[in-house]
Amino acid sequence: MIGLTVLGSTGSIGTSTLDVVRRHRDRFRVVALTANSDSDALFQQCREFEPDVAVMADEAAAAGLEGRLAEAGLEVDVLSGTAGLEQVAALPEADYVMAAIVGAAGLLPALAAVRAGKRLLLANKEALVLSGHLFMDEARRHDALILPIDSEHNAIFQCMPEGFDRGLEQVGVRRILLTASGGPFRQSPLEILRQVTPDQACAHPNWAMGRKISVDSATMMNKGLEIIEACWLFNTTPEHVQVVVHPQSVVHSMVEYVDGSVLAQMGRPDMRTPIAHALAWPKRIDSGVAALDLFAVGRLDFEPPDLQRFPCLALAHEAVRRGGTAPAVLNAANEVAVAAFLDERIGFLDIPRVVETVMDCQPVRPVDSLDTALVADREARRWAEQTVASLV
Ligand code: NAD
Ligand code: MG
Repeated sequence: MIGLTVLGSTGSIGTSTLDVVRRHRDRFRVVALTANSDSDALFQQCREFEPDVAVMADEAAAAGLEGRLAEAGLEVDVLSGTAGLEQVAALPEADYVMAAIVGAAGLLPALAAVRAGKRLLLANKEALVLSGHLFMDEARRHDALILPIDSEHNAIFQCMPEGFDRGLEQVGVRRILLTASGGPFRQSPLEILRQVTPDQACAHPNWAMGRKISVDSATMMNKGLEIIEACWLFNTTPEHVQVVVHPQSVVHSMVEYVDGSVLAQMGRPDMRTPIAHALAWPKRIDSGVAALDLFAVGRLDFEPPDLQRFPCLALAHEAVRRGGTAPAVLNAANEVAVAAFLDERIGFLDIPRVVETVMDCQPVRPVDSLDTALVADREARRWAEQTVASLV
């Protein structure tokens, strides 16, 4: 039996993970489940999966959950806060850890799993954007295996030859072709973008996801974060990562070799495929995803990204060019701006405005320690809040 901790189990990736686990109860045992503040959802999951430990980031919610579990006669230890999250990420009983908390809040728990040498199923891309260098170094030092859950990166992983971590040129890879759907506003008239509501921005044409990443897909900041994520995971630079807009979301990404071969991974847009892949790797297990019907898909289109329409993509490139703490600043400013947009405090087109303003006023420092990255994150959030306030 493989012990599994699911960080962020009540979210979109978390529930998809548990859906795959539900099909393989003979293979996986849930060791710990965690959520931010939704104690109802976590209680239901505890009833079904009977983990050893449940963690709520929110203290009051943890107390509520503890009471309900006791009443129901379930023996589940309840912890709270970041310390609780870090603890369950490193439990000896947990062989695998799914990192599916959204945003920078997921960094410390994911890092705790890496430091405990776990197999880390990494959905939380913000953790890598914030501290990629340190994160990958720690993984090497502690012999942790990082398997990407992000559909594009999982596809790239599936198309990569063995030994890619030595450098792509060493293994005959010329570039990575990172596909992007273009989100709900790929073809909307630009005047309309000023007025769009959070619900419109979250109505992704192909994928059902949490609200933060849905907005990131609509601005294409998601693809910007994914370029950075790909550089860390596959030990390469942005010049070797080409974004390819592919509206059908059937090809999840591609790897181009020096001999002209291009390998693609295809499938339905359903996160249970990459989740099942990473849970079973190097084997394969059923994910519950129906077969891809190519006759129903009919055609596959590809086009270059439009940087005028999607300034966030250009900002992400600029953050990589500046290096050091710049990606951490980009990520933090974006998290604050997206939250403000979802709260209807700023408009959709204000998101890149906030990010650019914060990037331009924050110094770039080399990331020589976790502290440097965390301080850059904190400072950028403060500036972003002020910038949001100035726009309201
Ligand atoms: P979500 O909002 O649906 O779920 C987030 C989970 O994290 C929930 O369980 C929530 O309770 C928990 N959480 C939120 N804030 C927290 C905090 N401050 N402390 C502790 N826990 C907290 O998000 P999601 O769509 O499942 O995305 C999770 C991660 O996976 C993100 O980093 C996202 O970029 C990445 N990802 C998601 C998808 C997708 O299809 N949803 C695809 C690729 C990558
Ligand atoms: Mg993705």
